[in-house]
Amino acid sequence: MAWEGRLDRFTGLVPILEPMDSIDFNGRPDDTGDDSIDRRTFLTRAGLTGAAAFAAGGLLLPGSAFAADGLTKRVIGHSTKGRAIKAWCLGDPNAKNVYLVMGQMHGDEPAGRLIARDRLLNKDPVKDVALWVVPTMNPDGSIRGTRVNARGVDLNRNFPSPTWVKQGKGTRYWSGPRPASEPETRAIVRFFSEIQPRTIVSIHQPLSSVDFSGGSKAVTQWLSKALNLPVAHIQVSGGGTMTSWYNREYPKKTAVTVELPPSTTPQYRNNVAEVLIRHAKQRRK
Ligand SMILES: [Zn+2]
Repeated sequence: MAWEGRLDRFTGLVPILEPMDSIDFNGRPDDTGDDSIDRRTFLTRAGLTGAAAFAAGGLLLPGSAFAADGLTKRVIGHSTKGRAIKAWCLGDPNAKNVYLVMGQMHGDEPAGRLIARDRLLNKDPVKDVALWVVPTMNPDGSIRGTRVNARGVDLNRNFPSPTWVKQGKGTRYWSGPRPASEPETRAIVRFFSEIQPRTIVSIHQPLSSVDFSGGSKAVTQWLSKALNLPVAHIQVSGGGTMTSWYNREYPKKTAVTVELPPSTTPQYRNNVAEVLIRHAKQRRK
C-alpha cells in the first residue's frame, strides 16, 4: 500500500518500441513487461519538458518538480500470483475531482490496458482532476491471456454486491466461492472505497457498446456519443460486477462499462484516451 517515490520512473532508461499496429481481441498483448510504463512515460515527458530532462541528470530531488504535471504510482494490492496491481495518478492526487479508468479486468481483452498504459498516461494532466488509471487489475490473466484470474475466477462476477450469486464454476464466468474471494477484487474494493471516484470508466471488449448499469445516465449517453458506440444494457445473470457493486455502494457516483470492438488500432486507442480526457474535464464539479 505504500506510496512509491516519484523518481522510480527514472530508474530504467531503456528505450522501448511502440506497440504493434493492431492487436486482436484474442491475441496476446504486445508487451507484458509491467514496468515499461515508467520508461515510456519518462521518454515522452523528457521530450516535452525541460524539467524532465533536468531530472534525468539526477539533479532533481524527489517530489520537488513533478507535483503539477507528474505521475504518482501506487501499488494497491497483489494478484494471486503475487504480481503488483498498480494505480497511477495523472495530475494532483489530492484534487477533489476524482476520475478513474479501469483499463483491464479480463486478461484476454488487451485494448483497455493499452489505452490506459500507453495512451492516457502520456497525456497532459487535467486541471483540478485526479485522474487515476489502473492499467490492469488482473495481471495474472493479462500475462496468460485469459479472461479469468490465476484461480479461474471471473473478477467481474466476484464483487461484493448484494446480488452476488455463486455461479459458473469451471467456466469463464466462475464467480468464485464467495463475494470478494479474490485478492484482486479486494484490492480494488479497498482502493475505490478510499478514493471514491465520482466517475469510473471500466473498459472491456468486444461488445462495441456503452452499458448503462446505474449511476448517471448522462455519463453513459455522453460516452456513447463521443465514442460513437450505442448504449446497451448488458445482461449479466446474478450480480458481482464491479459497476453494479460500485453504483449501489455509492449512489451519488457513477461507474460505467465501455465495451470496445474486438480489435483496435493504436489510433483508435489514442482517440479513446482523448475522449476520456475530455470526459474527465467535463465531469469536474
Ligand atoms: Zn470484459
